[in-house]
This record gives sequence, C-alpha cells and structure tokens, in this order.
Amino acid sequence: MQELIEELYHRYLPIREGKLADYIPELAKANPDSFGISLVTAQGQCYEVGDCGRKFTIQSISKPFVYGIALEDFGREEVLRRVGVEPTGDAFNSIIRLDEASKRPYNPMVNAGAIATSNLIAGASPADRLNRLMAVFAAYVGHEVNPDMAVFLSERSTGHRNRAIAHLMLNFRMIGPNVDEILDLYFQQCSLLVTSSDLAWMAATLANGGVNPGSGVRALPRQYVRDLLSVMFTCGLYDFSGEWAYRVGLPAKSGVGGGMLAVAPGRLGIGVYSPLLDERGTSVRAIRVCQELSSRLGLHVFDQTESILSESGS
Ligand code: GLU
Repeated sequence: MQELIEELYHRYLPIREGKLADYIPELAKANPDSFGISLVTAQGQCYEVGDCGRKFTIQSISKPFVYGIALEDFGREEVLRRVGVEPTGDAFNSIIRLDEASKRPYNPMVNAGAIATSNLIAGASPADRLNRLMAVFAAYVGHEVNPDMAVFLSERSTGHRNRAIAHLMLNFRMIGPNVDEILDLYFQQCSLLVTSSDLAWMAATLANGGVNPGSGVRALPRQYVRDLLSVMFTCGLYDFSGEWAYRVGLPAKSGVGGGMLAVAPGRLGIGVYSPLLDERGTSVRAIRVCQELSSRLGLHVFDQTESILSESGS
C-alpha cells in the first residue's frame, strides 16, 4: 500500500493542470505544489506520502458530515422534508434549482441543500450549534478542529451568491429568518482546517460503520452511515457524479480548498490534498489518485457483484 501511494505521488506531482480557487480570495494564497495522499484502513492502519500535515479548509467536504448531524438531530423524515436526495447534474453553486412543487433544494451536496442542512444542527444558540459541529468533526478526525478565521471572513464578505441562495430559500420558508446566523454556520463549517490525513480518518470512520477506527469513538449512528454514503455516491461530485460513479465507483466528496475524500465501505478511506482545481472545482491530482487507487485495489463498489452471485450458487 505504501509503495503504491508513493508511486502515485511521484507520477502525479509533475501535473500542473488546473488552477487555484480565487472566488474566495483567501483560497488563492494556497501553494499549488502542495500534494498529500493519505489512506486509512477500516482497521486503523495509516499510509501517507507528501504534504499530509499541511492544513487547508475543508469547504464542501463538510457537507455530507453536516448532513449526518442533521439526520441525527432531526431524523430521516424531517430532514427529507427539508432537503431532497436527487442529483441535479448542476454545478455546486447553482442558484436556480429548487424543486418546483416542494421548493426543497434537490440534495445536501449543492450549496442550497447544504445551507438548508446547516440550519438543521440542534442547539439553543449559534455558539451551541458551532460547538456541536466541531465536536462531531473532532470525533471523525480524532482531535480538535478549528475554523480558519481569515478564510471564514473572506467567504463571509464575498459570498453573495450563497447569500442570494439563502434568501431565496427564506422566501419559500424553507429556512427561518435568521439567515445571517445560518450562513455564518455554513461559512464556518466550510472554513474548518483539516489535512489529507484528517480526511482519510473521516473517510475510514465512514468505511468502519461510523466509528473512528483509531479512537473507537462513534462519530455517527450506524443507521445513518448509508444515508451519507448514498448522497455522496449520487451527488458528491456535482455534475461529474455520474461519470465518477461509473469510473471510480466510490462515494466521494471534493472541496474547493483542494481536498477530496473517498470511502471504500468496509475497507478503507482515502484523503488527498492538492489545490489545483478543474473547471468543476475538483482537485485535478485528487481525481487521478482516486481513479487509480480504485482500479489498482479493485475498490469499485460494484466490482464484487459477480463473486457474490457465484458464492450464493445462482
Ligand atoms: N464554501 C464554498 C462555497 O460555498 C464551498 C464550495 C465547494 O467546496 O465546492 O462556495
């Protein structure tokens, strides 16, 4: 495993395609050469290469994990009433797509759905809700996580599109009148600082049924693990989700900070950091690494179909 990720690191390090995100001005300060690959098995063995300790903001990779908190705090039916689970085939920040009849956002991975989901974290005050969020992320990664204040403020002062999305949802009564509080929480969750190693531990926790395999701490009730993985599988890569499912076959999530995680259920978690992004806002090197790990390790979730049928004798 270690040899394999070192081979991939050296193969993809020279790639210079893609560009840094700059619509959140602070993100344009990242080092384009940074590149880290981390793997953590569902048993807690860890393999790493490159800049695995380099911190970056989690951005949209926070979305499925906050969806998990919403499920835990409000239950499946109430969350489904507020946010759907249908892929849109649209970009992450698409503004126009609320379901015509229900006015629900289509899924919790596009920004509209993610903002509506941030509104479903239980707590008596904004500080309570932020503390709840940070405690859950700490359980996934195995140590404390904190927001990057500069990135938070940068997005908060320039996130007009997200503000417009939130106000549109307020217009349809899909979120409450405390729009600024909801957006602050969304911007805070996006600005949490993580490493590729942290992402691999988060993915390994999902691969291990919701329990962090290093600490033994449960981060998510078991019954919601499949909900998270399902929306990551169908919607995690936005308008690239179908091709990703076809080629790589792993639930995954990307973020404009340059991170990506992928989950091979029951087997392992992958975390990659490289901030050069393609036109869809996904890390170019991370896509290549995940594609190759999936094919070299036979991780596609449907690769097993044949052996299961032959084992059952049909
Ligand atoms: N905070 C970013 C936004 O809302 C997240 C986008 C992403 O990582 O895809 O625009």
